[in-house]
Amino acid sequence: MLPRYSVRCPVCGALVEMSFNARYADLARSSPDGLYAVMAKCPAGHFFRVYIDGDGFIRRVSPGDVEDKAGDCELVGDVSFLPPIVRQRVVEALKTGNYQGLERIIEDLKRMGLVVCL
Ligand SMILES: [Zn+2]
Repeated sequence: MLPRYSVRCPVCGALVEMSFNARYADLARSSPDGLYAVMAKCPAGHFFRVYIDGDGFIRRVSPGDVEDKAGDCELVGDVSFLPPIVRQRVVEALKTGNYQGLERIIEDLKRMGLVVCL
């Protein structure tokens, strides 16, 4: 049985199934940053990259049209419980890598597993 990944589209949040390929982990191990990026496409047509590490685990997911971001943290969960203005600031902070004034919130989100950092 081939293991499968379930990843969320970073654009619209749709669940995308990907089949695992052992080659991904091999390629990750031989790449300088230890990650291998696989392009994926969600049902709504968004392209995004899934970064797989040398153990075959997904480390992060990035929209496909964005080159590596300044920050090393990604929003991976549903943060709709945050007030929209805070949510927007968190999203911006993760994008820019500038967490000024949001350190506590981002720490909390990390603890809750909603923000994942390399
Ligand atoms: Zn999508």
